[in-house]
Amino acid sequence: MGKRIVVLGGGAAGTMVANRLARRLTDSIRSGELEILLITRSEQHLYQPGFLSVVFNEKFPEQIVREEKSLVHRGVTLVFDEIKRIRPDRRCVQSRTTEYPYDYLVIATGSRPDFDGVPGLKESARHFYSLEGALRLRDALASVKKGRILIAVDQPHKGPGAPLEFALMLDDYLRRRGIREGIRLKYAYSDGRLHRMQPVADWALSQFEQRGIVHQPFFRLEKVDPLRKRVFTADGEEHPFDVLVAVPAHRGAPVVADSGLGDERGFVPTDRLTLKMEGDDRVYVLGDATNLPLPKGGSAYYQSEVLVQNLVSRLKGLPETSVYDGKGAFFLGNSFRDAGFIAFDYSRFPKSVSSSEVLRWFKGMQGPAYWLNVRAIL
Ligand SMILES: Cc1cc2nc3c(=O)[nH]c(=O)nc-3n(C[C@H](O)[C@H](O)[C@H](O)COP(=O)(O)OP(=O)(O)OC[C@H]3O[C@@H](n4cnc5c(N)ncnc54)[C@H](O)[C@@H]3O)c2cc1C
Repeated sequence: MGKRIVVLGGGAAGTMVANRLARRLTDSIRSGELEILLITRSEQHLYQPGFLSVVFNEKFPEQIVREEKSLVHRGVTLVFDEIKRIRPDRRCVQSRTTEYPYDYLVIATGSRPDFDGVPGLKESARHFYSLEGALRLRDALASVKKGRILIAVDQPHKGPGAPLEFALMLDDYLRRRGIREGIRLKYAYSDGRLHRMQPVADWALSQFEQRGIVHQPFFRLEKVDPLRKRVFTADGEEHPFDVLVAVPAHRGAPVVADSGLGDERGFVPTDRLTLKMEGDDRVYVLGDATNLPLPKGGSAYYQSEVLVQNLVSRLKGLPETSVYDGKGAFFLGNSFRDAGFIAFDYSRFPKSVSSSEVLRWFKGMQGPAYWLNVRAIL
């Protein structure tokens, strides 16, 4: 009987890992010594950074969606199912109807914004964290002529630069339409600075000040009144809005918490060097599902390199010597003309941030490169 690697979650990280494994281990798969089983619940694969391009009408929905089966290497067995429990004690994952045993498991179940954490938020807020949300926000912004737009941001969230990028792009979008003067644009955030990385926060602060984007730190959303269009904070402040755009704190996928594997926010405790779930030598974790002290985004590609190298070594009976150094990178759009680029690892943040037209061009290439990355061609 051959060995089986189960990859749980067919988003950016899971699809990339399954395809990379299949490309490296074609002979073992052909001979029946190995099966790579990718289990995911959605038949459609969304390029999530593209949600912002949909909001500003730069891209149409069909440009950021592909069929998952069109992305998967022929050596990967693809199953559409929703996993309800991960059972490391029995070395299997279970759906409502069946169970899938594994020799090695890769958890890549991602993260999601928790709109239920604040009363009234779900009913009141627009967002760019799903395709439907992006389409609704696009339409809401297209009909704005004047008033107050409030962007309320909490941590942790995926898309390391996405909330800042949204605010800066929105400023440019409103200017282009000649309506910026009549709109009070406010960015309220839970931390003491605009971004966890100080140089990014410093750069964003200067952009906000030059462009008249009002900003408020330590903003703790307590409840929202959808009828009166007012937000209330833990400090007892009241903020009126015409359009509220929210980035609520994220949680891990429910299956992680339901399986008793997550920390208090449902992220999997993960060894920062080996990318193994703490306390289990056969379970690996990557992408947004981990509890690593890193932004949620920009690192799945680098993590998959390490994880795949180690799994391949292990299957060949060799030691696992590849180590993840926390590497990641992301683009941060500043306007329709320019963007910045931020690279980081566990011990290094960028010293300063600047933006340029050339980087904006490279940012435009990120979408096409993504589809090659997930197919493990790049
Ligand atoms: C607006 C926005 C902008 C962003 N910008 C950037 C950027 O510029 N650069 C960058 O690198 N990243 C960016 N990101 C973040 C990036 O999209 C994520 O970091 C990335 O998708 C994480 O990959 P993942 O595989 O961990 O999770 P996901 O891609 O979310 O995939 C998780 C998968 O697991 C599946 N799943 C979950 N639970 C189950 C279950 N129980 N059973 C079966 N399947 C399950 C889901 O259906 C999904 O397919 C952005 C995100 C957003 C929303």
